Amino acid sequence: MPTPEAKMEKGELIYEGKAKKLYITDDPDVLLQEFKDDATAFNAQKRGTILGKGAINNQISARLFQFLEKEGIKTHFVKLVSDREMLVRKVQIIPLEVTIRNVVAGGMAKMLGIEEGMLLKKPVFEWHYKSDALEDPLINDDHIFALNLATEQELETIRRLSFKVNAILIGFFKERGLDLVDFKLEFGRFQNEHILLADEISPDTMRLWEEGTKKKLDKDRFRRDLGSVEEAYQEVLRRVMDVRT
Ligand code: C5P
Repeated sequence: MPTPEAKMEKGELIYEGKAKKLYITDDPDVLLQEFKDDATAFNAQKRGTILGKGAINNQISARLFQFLEKEGIKTHFVKLVSDREMLVRKVQIIPLEVTIRNVVAGGMAKMLGIEEGMLLKKPVFEWHYKSDALEDPLINDDHIFALNLATEQELETIRRLSFKVNAILIGFFKERGLDLVDFKLEFGRFQNEHILLADEISPDTMRLWEEGTKKKLDKDRFRRDLGSVEEAYQEVLRRVMDVRT
């Protein structure tokens, strides 16, 4: 896959989501992804702003995509172009959200009535159907095939890549004194040929707890009104950018 010689020309806005905007560029295979400070939770019932989040999530995502690329994971990331903007390959997003859990928290604690914090004997992999209207329901392989959302081979690839991402990121964060509790990934089809890791990887999409103290350094601070939200995102950025560890 050649690295595109994308121009920085920011074209028309083609998509606006809860946390990001996508613009076309001069290269039809490349989009500009802009990160916003807007924060939503509980299916956008709770809305707010986390000052500086857009720039922080842009830098964190870029660093993690680059690290994963080095470890052999193909991603949509091309390059950073500004504080809150990156160039990404244009993919067709598969309407599935993958969640991997290493420690019980959030949705799993609620669904099974167990306390947060239990270390899982093995990582738990979940498929969710990407639908705001339905609140991203948990589904299984059969739902995906029956609804023709992805092929068997695509599911196998996504599952294999997701577990690999989990193993790589657990190590990355461990070296930086953080426990990777869980996270969400999205994948896309590039030129109908490759499956690429897409979207973002940031404290909006991961749970990170400080090793030892278990202090939450992610979007749960916003969801649960725990305070020091901006500081938590800053702290994750500081640790993620640490190249010595
Ligand atoms: O809420 P739940 O426990 O299912 O979330 C699991 C992980 O996926 C969390 O790290 C959360 O931040 C992330 N997530 C996400 N986008 C969603 C739902 C969950 O990034 N729509």
